[in-house]
Amino acid sequence: MSVPQVDRASPLRAPHQPSDFNSAYVAAKVHFLSDHSESPARRRRPRVTRQLPVITTRPPGPEAKAWVRRDEHTLSQSVTRIYPLVVKRARGVMVEDVDGNRYLDFTAGIAVVTTGHAHPKVVRAIRRQAGRFIHMSGTDFYYPAQITLAEQLASIAPVRKPARTFFSNSGTEAMEAAFKLARYRTKRPLMIAFQGAFHGRTMGALSLTASKAVQRRHFSPLVPGVTHVPYANCYRCPYGLAYPSCNIHCVEVIRDVFLKSIVPAEDVAAIVVEPIQGEGGVVVPPPEFLPKLAGIAKEHGMLLIVDEVQTGMGRTGKMFAVDHWNVKPDIVALAKGIASGLPMGATVASAEVMNWGPGSHANTFGGNPVACEAALATIDLLQRTLIENARMVGAYLLAELKDLGKRHRLVGDVRGKGLMTGIECVKDPNTKAMAVPERNAIIQRCFEKGLLLLGCGQNVIRMVPPLIISKRDVDVAVEILDAVLSEVERRTFSNR
Ligand code: PLP
Repeated sequence: MSVPQVDRASPLRAPHQPSDFNSAYVAAKVHFLSDHSESPARRRRPRVTRQLPVITTRPPGPEAKAWVRRDEHTLSQSVTRIYPLVVKRARGVMVEDVDGNRYLDFTAGIAVVTTGHAHPKVVRAIRRQAGRFIHMSGTDFYYPAQITLAEQLASIAPVRKPARTFFSNSGTEAMEAAFKLARYRTKRPLMIAFQGAFHGRTMGALSLTASKAVQRRHFSPLVPGVTHVPYANCYRCPYGLAYPSCNIHCVEVIRDVFLKSIVPAEDVAAIVVEPIQGEGGVVVPPPEFLPKLAGIAKEHGMLLIVDEVQTGMGRTGKMFAVDHWNVKPDIVALAKGIASGLPMGATVASAEVMNWGPGSHANTFGGNPVACEAALATIDLLQRTLIENARMVGAYLLAELKDLGKRHRLVGDVRGKGLMTGIECVKDPNTKAMAVPERNAIIQRCFEKGLLLLGCGQNVIRMVPPLIISKRDVDVAVEILDAVLSEVERRTFSNR
Protein backbone atom coordinates (compact mmCIF):
# COMPACT_ATOMS: atom_id res chain seq x y z
CA MET A 1 0.00 0.00 0.00
CA SER A 2 1.46 3.37 -0.93
CA VAL A 3 1.81 6.09 1.65
CA PRO A 4 -0.68 8.90 1.03
CA GLN A 5 0.90 12.32 0.61
CA VAL A 6 -0.47 13.66 3.85
CA ASP A 7 -1.30 17.30 3.51
CA ARG A 8 0.29 18.45 6.69
CA ALA A 9 3.24 20.55 5.75
CA SER A 10 3.46 21.26 2.05
CA PRO A 11 2.81 24.98 2.44
CA LEU A 12 5.83 25.11 4.74
CA ARG A 13 8.16 23.45 2.27
CA ALA A 14 10.95 25.62 0.90
CA PRO A 15 10.91 25.71 -2.94
CA HIS A 16 14.17 23.73 -3.29
CA GLN A 17 12.96 20.84 -1.14
CA PRO A 18 11.75 17.68 -2.88
CA SER A 19 8.09 16.89 -2.39
CA ASP A 20 8.29 13.38 -0.95
CA PHE A 21 6.57 12.55 2.33
CA ASN A 22 9.72 12.51 4.46
CA SER A 23 10.80 15.91 3.26
CA ALA A 24 7.43 17.31 4.15
CA TYR A 25 8.01 15.76 7.55
CA VAL A 26 11.36 17.48 7.89
CA ALA A 27 9.92 20.76 6.68
CA ALA A 28 7.26 20.62 9.36
CA LYS A 29 9.94 20.16 11.94
CA VAL A 30 12.04 23.04 10.71
CA HIS A 31 9.00 25.28 10.83
CA PHE A 32 8.08 24.09 14.29
CA LEU A 33 11.51 24.93 15.60
CA SER A 34 11.83 28.33 13.98
CA ASP A 35 10.76 31.11 16.27
CA HIS A 36 10.60 34.24 14.18
CA SER A 37 11.17 36.41 17.21
CA GLU A 38 14.63 34.89 17.72
CA SER A 39 17.76 36.84 16.82
CA PRO A 40 19.50 35.95 13.51
CA ALA A 41 22.41 34.51 15.51
CA ARG A 42 20.12 32.12 17.38
CA ARG A 43 18.30 31.24 14.17
CA ARG A 44 21.57 30.06 12.60
CA ARG A 45 21.87 27.24 15.17
CA PRO A 46 21.73 23.77 13.58
CA ARG A 47 18.19 22.54 13.68
CA VAL A 48 16.97 19.14 14.65
CA THR A 49 15.26 17.60 11.65
CA ARG A 50 13.40 14.67 13.21
CA GLN A 51 10.15 14.91 15.06
CA LEU A 52 11.34 13.44 18.31
CA PRO A 53 10.34 14.48 21.78
CA VAL A 54 13.08 16.42 23.56
CA ILE A 55 12.96 16.77 27.34
CA THR A 56 15.56 19.24 28.53
CA THR A 57 14.02 20.06 31.92
CA ARG A 58 12.24 17.35 33.84
CA PRO A 59 8.56 18.35 33.66
CA PRO A 60 7.08 20.24 35.31
CA GLY A 61 9.96 22.69 34.92
CA PRO A 62 10.13 25.97 36.88
CA GLU A 63 8.02 27.93 34.40
CA ALA A 64 5.36 25.23 34.29
CA LYS A 65 5.26 25.01 38.10
CA ALA A 66 4.72 28.75 38.37
CA TRP A 67 1.83 28.68 35.88
CA VAL A 68 0.22 25.69 37.61
CA ARG A 69 0.30 27.58 40.93
CA ARG A 70 -1.40 30.58 39.33
CA ASP A 71 -3.98 28.31 37.72
CA GLU A 72 -4.79 26.71 41.08
CA HIS A 73 -5.61 30.12 42.53
CA THR A 74 -7.79 31.40 39.74
CA LEU A 75 -9.37 28.63 37.69
CA SER A 76 -12.19 26.30 38.60
CA GLN A 77 -10.51 23.09 39.72
CA SER A 78 -13.45 20.97 38.54
CA VAL A 79 -11.45 20.09 35.44
CA THR A 80 -9.45 16.89 34.98
CA ARG A 81 -5.74 17.54 34.43
CA ILE A 82 -3.68 14.39 34.91
CA TYR A 83 -0.22 15.83 34.36
CA PRO A 84 1.14 19.37 34.44
CA LEU A 85 1.67 20.18 30.77
CA VAL A 86 1.75 23.94 30.26
CA VAL A 87 1.72 24.67 26.54
CA LYS A 88 3.68 27.47 24.91
CA ARG A 89 3.07 26.57 21.28
CA ALA A 90 2.19 23.64 19.08
CA ARG A 91 2.65 22.74 15.43
CA GLY A 92 1.73 19.56 13.57
CA VAL A 93 2.08 16.64 15.96
CA MET A 94 4.45 18.42 18.33
CA VAL A 95 3.75 20.50 21.43
CA GLU A 96 6.30 22.67 23.22
CA ASP A 97 5.93 23.55 26.88
CA VAL A 98 6.87 26.78 28.64
CA ASP A 99 10.20 25.27 29.76
CA GLY A 100 11.21 24.35 26.21
CA ASN A 101 10.41 20.61 26.37
CA ARG A 102 8.94 19.12 23.20
CA TYR A 103 6.31 16.40 23.22
CA LEU A 104 4.80 14.09 20.66
CA ASP A 105 1.07 14.68 20.94
CA PHE A 106 -1.11 11.58 20.95
CA THR A 107 -4.03 13.50 22.49
CA ALA A 108 -4.76 16.09 19.77
CA GLY A 109 -6.18 18.26 22.57
CA ILE A 110 -8.75 15.54 23.41
CA ALA A 111 -9.34 14.34 19.85
CA VAL A 112 -9.79 17.84 18.47
CA VAL A 113 -6.92 18.97 16.25
CA THR A 114 -7.64 16.49 13.47
CA THR A 115 -5.43 18.35 10.99
CA GLY A 116 -2.59 18.76 13.48
CA HIS A 117 -1.78 21.84 15.47
CA ALA A 118 -2.10 25.05 13.50
CA HIS A 119 -2.30 23.51 10.06
CA PRO A 120 -1.30 26.33 7.68
CA LYS A 121 -4.41 25.90 5.51
CA VAL A 122 -6.66 26.14 8.57
CA VAL A 123 -4.72 29.10 9.92
CA ARG A 124 -5.04 30.86 6.56
CA ALA A 125 -8.80 30.25 6.48
CA ILE A 126 -9.15 31.60 10.03
CA ARG A 127 -7.07 34.71 9.28
CA ARG A 128 -8.98 35.42 6.07
CA GLN A 129 -12.38 35.25 7.78
CA ALA A 130 -11.22 37.15 10.88
CA GLY A 131 -10.16 39.95 8.55
CA ARG A 132 -13.65 40.07 7.00
CA PHE A 133 -15.75 39.84 10.19
CA ILE A 134 -15.53 37.78 13.38
CA HIS A 135 -19.11 37.63 14.60
CA MET A 136 -22.59 38.66 13.58
CA SER A 137 -24.73 35.86 15.09
CA GLY A 138 -26.18 33.28 12.78
CA THR A 139 -29.31 33.24 14.93
CA ASP A 140 -30.51 36.64 13.77
CA PHE A 141 -28.57 37.17 10.54
CA TYR A 142 -27.28 35.30 7.50
CA TYR A 143 -23.73 34.86 6.21
CA PRO A 144 -22.13 32.63 3.57
CA ALA A 145 -19.69 30.69 5.79
CA GLN A 146 -22.44 29.16 7.92
CA ILE A 147 -24.65 28.31 4.94
CA THR A 148 -21.75 26.83 2.95
CA LEU A 149 -20.72 24.65 5.90
CA ALA A 150 -24.31 23.46 6.43
CA GLU A 151 -24.46 22.50 2.74
CA GLN A 152 -21.17 20.67 3.10
CA LEU A 153 -22.39 18.79 6.22
CA ALA A 154 -25.66 17.95 4.47
CA SER A 155 -23.70 16.29 1.69
CA ILE A 156 -21.38 14.25 3.95
CA ALA A 157 -23.49 13.49 7.05
CA PRO A 158 -24.79 9.94 7.31
CA VAL A 159 -28.43 11.02 7.79
CA ARG A 160 -31.22 10.84 5.21
CA LYS A 161 -31.12 13.68 2.64
CA PRO A 162 -32.00 16.49 2.51
CA ALA A 163 -30.38 17.36 5.84
CA ARG A 164 -30.29 20.42 8.05
CA THR A 165 -27.78 21.54 10.69
CA PHE A 166 -28.10 23.39 13.98
CA PHE A 167 -24.78 24.96 14.99
CA SER A 168 -23.49 25.41 18.54
CA ASN A 169 -20.10 25.61 20.26
CA SER A 170 -19.34 22.26 21.88
CA GLY A 171 -20.19 18.60 22.05
CA THR A 172 -22.50 18.96 25.01
CA GLU A 173 -24.50 21.64 23.21
CA ALA A 174 -24.72 19.48 20.09
CA MET A 175 -26.15 16.70 22.28
CA GLU A 176 -28.44 19.11 24.12
CA ALA A 177 -29.92 20.12 20.78
CA ALA A 178 -30.26 16.47 19.74
CA PHE A 179 -32.09 15.64 23.00
CA LYS A 180 -34.50 18.57 22.62
CA LEU A 181 -35.08 17.91 18.92
CA ALA A 182 -35.94 14.26 19.57
CA ARG A 183 -38.53 15.24 22.17
CA TYR A 184 -39.89 18.03 19.96
CA ARG A 185 -40.16 15.83 16.88
CA THR A 186 -41.70 12.75 18.52
CA LYS A 187 -43.62 14.41 21.40
CA ARG A 188 -42.42 11.44 23.47
CA PRO A 189 -40.76 11.88 26.88
CA LEU A 190 -38.31 9.01 27.37
CA MET A 191 -34.76 8.24 26.23
CA ILE A 192 -32.68 5.08 26.14
CA ALA A 193 -28.95 5.64 26.61
CA PHE A 194 -26.03 3.41 27.56
CA GLN A 195 -24.01 2.62 30.64
CA GLY A 196 -20.50 3.95 30.16
CA ALA A 197 -21.73 6.68 27.80
CA PHE A 198 -20.35 10.19 27.76
CA HIS A 199 -22.43 12.84 26.05
CA GLY A 200 -21.40 16.01 27.89
CA ARG A 201 -21.99 17.88 31.12
CA THR A 202 -24.86 20.33 30.63
CA MET A 203 -28.03 19.10 32.31
CA GLY A 204 -29.64 17.36 29.33
CA ALA A 205 -26.41 15.82 28.04
CA LEU A 206 -25.36 14.92 31.59
CA SER A 207 -28.62 13.05 32.05
CA LEU A 208 -27.60 10.88 29.10
CA THR A 209 -24.04 10.48 30.43
CA ALA A 210 -23.29 7.45 32.63
CA SER A 211 -19.53 7.19 32.57
CA LYS A 212 -18.20 8.18 36.01
CA ALA A 213 -20.08 8.90 39.24
CA VAL A 214 -18.06 12.08 39.83
CA GLN A 215 -19.59 13.58 36.69
CA ARG A 216 -23.12 13.24 38.17
CA ARG A 217 -22.49 13.49 41.93
CA HIS A 218 -24.43 16.30 43.67
CA PHE A 219 -26.10 17.40 40.43
CA SER A 220 -29.40 15.57 40.74
CA PRO A 221 -32.21 15.79 39.97
CA LEU A 222 -31.18 15.47 36.35
CA VAL A 223 -33.55 15.49 33.39
CA PRO A 224 -35.99 12.66 34.09
CA GLY A 225 -36.88 9.84 31.73
CA VAL A 226 -33.47 8.45 30.77
CA THR A 227 -32.87 4.69 31.15
CA HIS A 228 -29.29 3.47 30.80
CA VAL A 229 -28.86 -0.02 29.43
CA PRO A 230 -25.60 -2.04 29.18
CA TYR A 231 -23.34 -1.27 26.20
CA ALA A 232 -21.75 -3.89 23.95
CA ASN A 233 -18.48 -4.22 25.83
CA CYS A 234 -17.18 -7.58 24.67
CA TYR A 235 -14.01 -7.50 26.80
CA ARG A 236 -16.16 -7.16 29.92
CA CYS A 237 -19.52 -8.46 28.72
CA PRO A 238 -22.14 -7.17 31.16
CA TYR A 239 -24.02 -10.45 30.73
CA GLY A 240 -20.96 -12.69 31.05
CA LEU A 241 -21.39 -13.94 27.48
CA ALA A 242 -18.92 -14.26 24.62
CA TYR A 243 -19.15 -12.90 21.09
CA PRO A 244 -20.43 -14.18 18.66
CA SER A 245 -22.31 -16.93 20.51
CA CYS A 246 -23.99 -14.20 22.60
CA ASN A 247 -26.17 -13.38 19.56
CA ILE A 248 -25.79 -9.70 20.54
CA HIS A 249 -27.80 -10.28 23.70
CA CYS A 250 -27.15 -6.66 24.80
CA VAL A 251 -29.45 -5.48 21.99
CA GLU A 252 -31.94 -8.34 22.20
CA VAL A 253 -32.44 -7.59 25.89
CA ILE A 254 -33.55 -4.05 25.06
CA ARG A 255 -36.37 -5.45 22.95
CA ASP A 256 -37.20 -8.43 25.16
CA VAL A 257 -36.80 -6.94 28.63
CA PHE A 258 -36.41 -3.17 28.79
CA LEU A 259 -39.15 -2.24 26.31
CA LYS A 260 -41.51 -4.81 27.81
CA SER A 261 -41.01 -4.05 31.48
CA ILE A 262 -39.30 -0.69 32.05
CA VAL A 263 -39.58 1.77 29.16
CA PRO A 264 -42.76 1.47 27.09
CA ALA A 265 -41.63 1.68 23.46
CA GLU A 266 -44.32 4.16 22.42
CA ASP A 267 -43.02 6.64 25.04
CA VAL A 268 -39.40 6.49 23.87
CA ALA A 269 -38.30 9.48 21.81
CA ALA A 270 -34.84 8.18 20.95
CA ILE A 271 -32.07 5.71 21.49
CA VAL A 272 -28.85 7.64 22.09
CA VAL A 273 -25.54 5.95 21.38
CA GLU A 274 -21.84 6.50 20.75
CA PRO A 275 -20.75 4.27 17.85
CA ILE A 276 -17.56 3.65 19.83
CA GLN A 277 -17.57 4.68 23.49
CA GLY A 278 -14.75 7.17 23.96
CA GLU A 279 -14.62 8.52 27.50
CA GLY A 280 -16.05 5.20 28.65
CA GLY A 281 -12.87 3.40 27.56
CA VAL A 282 -12.61 3.20 23.74
CA VAL A 283 -15.16 0.39 23.65
CA VAL A 284 -15.68 -0.87 20.10
CA PRO A 285 -18.97 -2.78 19.74
CA PRO A 286 -19.27 -5.85 17.51
CA PRO A 287 -20.40 -5.15 13.92
CA GLU A 288 -24.01 -6.24 14.49
CA PHE A 289 -24.60 -3.88 17.43
CA LEU A 290 -25.46 -0.60 15.71
CA PRO A 291 -27.47 -2.06 12.81
CA LYS A 292 -29.56 -4.08 15.28
CA LEU A 293 -30.09 -1.02 17.45
CA ALA A 294 -31.17 0.99 14.42
CA GLY A 295 -33.62 -1.83 13.66
CA ILE A 296 -35.26 -1.54 17.11
CA ALA A 297 -35.54 2.24 16.81
CA LYS A 298 -37.18 1.94 13.39
CA GLU A 299 -39.52 -0.83 14.51
CA HIS A 300 -40.91 1.35 17.31
CA GLY A 301 -40.89 4.82 15.71
CA MET A 302 -38.04 6.02 17.93
CA LEU A 303 -35.27 8.23 16.59
CA LEU A 304 -31.67 7.04 16.58
CA ILE A 305 -29.33 9.73 17.88
CA VAL A 306 -25.69 8.96 17.21
CA ASP A 307 -23.09 10.91 19.16
CA GLU A 308 -20.14 11.29 16.78
CA VAL A 309 -18.60 14.09 18.81
CA GLN A 310 -15.42 12.05 19.33
CA THR A 311 -15.66 9.42 16.58
CA GLY A 312 -16.65 11.77 13.76
CA MET A 313 -14.62 13.85 11.29
CA GLY A 314 -12.35 11.09 10.04
CA ARG A 315 -11.10 9.92 13.43
CA THR A 316 -11.92 6.24 12.87
CA GLY A 317 -10.75 6.08 9.24
CA LYS A 318 -14.15 6.97 7.76
CA MET A 319 -15.73 10.39 7.87
CA PHE A 320 -18.19 9.07 10.49
CA ALA A 321 -17.89 5.92 12.58
CA VAL A 322 -21.42 4.77 11.63
CA ASP A 323 -20.16 4.57 8.03
CA HIS A 324 -18.26 1.42 9.09
CA TRP A 325 -21.59 -0.30 9.69
CA ASN A 326 -23.81 1.45 7.09
CA VAL A 327 -26.14 2.78 9.74
CA LYS A 328 -28.24 5.88 9.01
CA PRO A 329 -29.10 7.74 12.22
CA ASP A 330 -31.91 10.27 12.41
CA ILE A 331 -29.76 12.80 14.28
CA VAL A 332 -25.97 13.08 14.48
CA ALA A 333 -24.04 15.20 16.98
CA LEU A 334 -20.63 16.56 15.98
CA ALA A 335 -17.99 18.73 17.65
CA LYS A 336 -14.34 18.16 18.68
CA GLY A 337 -12.51 17.55 15.38
CA ILE A 338 -14.88 19.49 13.18
CA ALA A 339 -12.98 22.80 13.12
CA SER A 340 -9.41 21.75 13.99
CA GLY A 341 -9.57 23.42 17.42
CA LEU A 342 -11.98 26.31 17.07
CA PRO A 343 -15.07 25.72 19.22
CA MET A 344 -17.95 24.30 17.22
CA GLY A 345 -20.81 21.87 17.74
CA ALA A 346 -23.20 20.71 15.04
CA THR A 347 -26.43 18.76 15.26
CA VAL A 348 -27.31 17.34 11.87
CA ALA A 349 -30.64 15.69 11.07
CA SER A 350 -32.77 14.92 8.08
CA ALA A 351 -34.87 17.96 7.18
CA GLU A 352 -37.98 16.00 7.98
CA VAL A 353 -36.76 15.47 11.58
CA MET A 354 -35.31 18.97 12.07
CA ASN A 355 -38.62 20.69 11.54
CA TRP A 356 -38.83 22.90 14.62
CA GLY A 357 -40.10 26.43 14.17
CA PRO A 358 -38.44 29.82 14.75
CA GLY A 359 -37.53 30.46 18.40
CA SER A 360 -37.74 26.84 19.51
CA HIS A 361 -33.95 26.49 19.76
CA ALA A 362 -31.21 29.05 19.13
CA ASN A 363 -28.03 30.57 20.56
CA THR A 364 -25.77 33.60 20.15
CA PHE A 365 -22.44 32.13 19.10
CA GLY A 366 -23.32 28.96 17.17
CA GLY A 367 -22.01 28.86 13.60
CA ASN A 368 -19.39 31.51 14.26
CA PRO A 369 -18.02 32.48 10.82
CA VAL A 370 -14.35 32.01 11.76
CA ALA A 371 -15.08 28.53 13.13
CA CYS A 372 -17.15 27.75 9.99
CA GLU A 373 -14.22 28.64 7.71
CA ALA A 374 -11.89 26.53 9.89
CA ALA A 375 -14.37 23.64 9.54
CA LEU A 376 -14.56 24.02 5.74
CA ALA A 377 -10.75 23.92 5.53
CA THR A 378 -10.71 20.92 7.90
CA ILE A 379 -13.24 18.93 5.86
CA ASP A 380 -11.28 19.63 2.68
CA LEU A 381 -8.06 18.33 4.27
CA LEU A 382 -9.87 15.29 5.68
CA GLN A 383 -11.31 14.39 2.29
CA ARG A 384 -8.03 14.89 0.44
CA THR A 385 -5.73 12.65 2.51
CA LEU A 386 -6.33 12.60 6.23
CA ILE A 387 -9.18 10.10 6.51
CA GLU A 388 -7.15 7.65 4.46
CA ASN A 389 -4.11 8.39 6.61
CA ALA A 390 -6.15 7.77 9.76
CA ARG A 391 -7.27 4.42 8.36
CA MET A 392 -3.83 3.34 7.29
CA VAL A 393 -1.67 4.65 10.15
CA GLY A 394 -4.43 3.67 12.59
CA ALA A 395 -4.24 0.05 11.43
CA TYR A 396 -0.46 0.20 11.86
CA LEU A 397 -0.79 1.66 15.36
CA LEU A 398 -3.31 -0.99 16.38
CA ALA A 399 -1.07 -3.80 15.09
CA GLU A 400 1.98 -2.35 16.87
CA LEU A 401 0.05 -2.02 20.13
CA LYS A 402 -1.31 -5.56 19.89
CA ASP A 403 2.26 -6.71 19.42
CA LEU A 404 3.27 -4.70 22.48
CA GLY A 405 0.43 -6.36 24.36
CA LYS A 406 1.99 -9.76 23.78
CA ARG A 407 5.13 -8.63 25.63
CA HIS A 408 3.50 -6.84 28.57
CA ARG A 409 1.47 -8.30 31.41
CA LEU A 410 -0.26 -5.02 32.17
CA VAL A 411 -1.89 -4.91 28.74
CA GLY A 412 -5.26 -6.67 28.97
CA ASP A 413 -6.85 -5.54 25.72
CA VAL A 414 -5.97 -3.35 22.76
CA ARG A 415 -8.82 -2.02 20.61
CA GLY A 416 -9.83 0.78 18.35
CA LYS A 417 -10.62 1.92 14.84
CA GLY A 418 -8.54 4.31 12.78
CA LEU A 419 -6.79 6.70 15.11
CA MET A 420 -9.06 6.12 18.09
CA THR A 421 -7.23 3.53 20.12
CA GLY A 422 -7.38 2.25 23.69
CA ILE A 423 -5.17 0.01 25.81
CA GLU A 424 -6.95 -1.54 28.77
CA CYS A 425 -4.55 -2.10 31.68
CA VAL A 426 -5.11 -5.08 33.97
CA LYS A 427 -3.23 -6.60 36.86
CA ASP A 428 -3.98 -10.10 35.69
CA PRO A 429 -5.27 -11.14 32.27
CA ASN A 430 -7.37 -13.91 33.79
CA THR A 431 -9.17 -11.98 36.51
CA LYS A 432 -9.04 -8.75 34.43
CA ALA A 433 -8.62 -6.82 37.71
CA MET A 434 -8.29 -3.19 36.70
CA ALA A 435 -4.80 -1.70 36.94
CA VAL A 436 -5.83 1.85 37.79
CA PRO A 437 -2.76 3.30 39.59
CA GLU A 438 -0.56 1.47 37.08
CA ARG A 439 -2.46 3.04 34.15
CA ASN A 440 -2.02 6.46 35.76
CA ALA A 441 1.70 5.82 36.32
CA ILE A 442 2.15 4.82 32.66
CA ILE A 443 0.53 8.03 31.43
CA GLN A 444 2.58 10.13 33.87
CA ARG A 445 5.90 8.49 32.90
CA CYS A 446 5.13 8.79 29.17
CA PHE A 447 4.58 12.52 29.76
CA GLU A 448 7.93 12.75 31.52
CA LYS A 449 9.53 11.07 28.51
CA GLY A 450 7.83 13.35 25.98
CA LEU A 451 4.72 11.42 24.89
CA LEU A 452 1.31 12.94 25.57
CA LEU A 453 -1.48 10.45 26.27
CA LEU A 454 -4.91 10.56 27.89
CA GLY A 455 -6.81 8.21 30.13
CA CYS A 456 -10.40 7.08 29.71
CA GLY A 457 -12.67 4.59 31.44
CA GLN A 458 -11.15 3.62 34.75
CA ASN A 459 -8.05 1.82 33.49
CA VAL A 460 -7.67 2.59 29.79
CA ILE A 461 -4.97 4.57 27.99
CA ARG A 462 -6.47 6.57 25.13
CA MET A 463 -4.52 7.40 21.96
CA VAL A 464 -6.26 9.94 19.73
CA PRO A 465 -3.44 11.69 17.84
CA PRO A 466 -3.87 14.24 15.06
CA LEU A 467 -4.83 12.48 11.82
CA ILE A 468 -1.60 13.69 10.17
CA ILE A 469 0.65 11.32 12.10
CA SER A 470 3.01 9.03 10.23
CA LYS A 471 4.16 5.49 10.92
CA ARG A 472 7.39 7.02 12.20
CA ASP A 473 5.46 8.95 14.85
CA VAL A 474 3.79 5.67 15.82
CA ASP A 475 7.19 3.99 16.13
CA VAL A 476 8.42 6.76 18.43
CA ALA A 477 5.29 6.55 20.60
CA VAL A 478 5.36 2.76 20.81
CA GLU A 479 9.04 2.78 21.75
CA ILE A 480 8.38 5.16 24.65
CA LEU A 481 5.34 3.20 25.76
CA ASP A 482 7.28 -0.06 25.59
CA ALA A 483 10.01 1.29 27.88
CA VAL A 484 7.48 2.79 30.30
CA LEU A 485 5.41 -0.40 30.46
CA SER A 486 8.56 -2.37 31.35
CA GLU A 487 9.41 0.13 34.05
CA VAL A 488 5.93 0.17 35.61
CA GLU A 489 5.69 -3.63 35.38
CA ARG A 490 9.02 -4.01 37.17
CA ARG A 491 7.65 -1.87 40.00
CA THR A 492 4.22 -3.52 40.06
CA PHE A 493 5.17 -7.15 39.93
CA SER A 494 8.41 -7.09 41.94
CA ASN A 495 6.40 -6.01 45.00
CA ARG A 496 4.42 -9.23 45.07
N1 PLP B 1 -19.98 13.41 23.37
C1 PLP B 1 -18.85 12.69 23.32
C2 PLP B 1 -18.88 11.33 22.67
C3 PLP B 1 -17.67 13.18 23.88
O1 PLP B 1 -16.56 12.43 23.84
C4 PLP B 1 -17.69 14.46 24.48
C5 PLP B 1 -16.48 14.99 25.10
O2 PLP B 1 -15.54 14.31 25.42
C6 PLP B 1 -18.89 15.17 24.49
C7 PLP B 1 -20.02 14.63 23.92
C8 PLP B 1 -18.95 16.52 25.11
O3 PLP B 1 -18.22 17.43 24.33
P1 PLP B 1 -17.74 18.81 24.96
O4 PLP B 1 -16.66 18.50 25.95
O5 PLP B 1 -17.25 19.57 23.77
O6 PLP B 1 -18.91 19.45 25.58
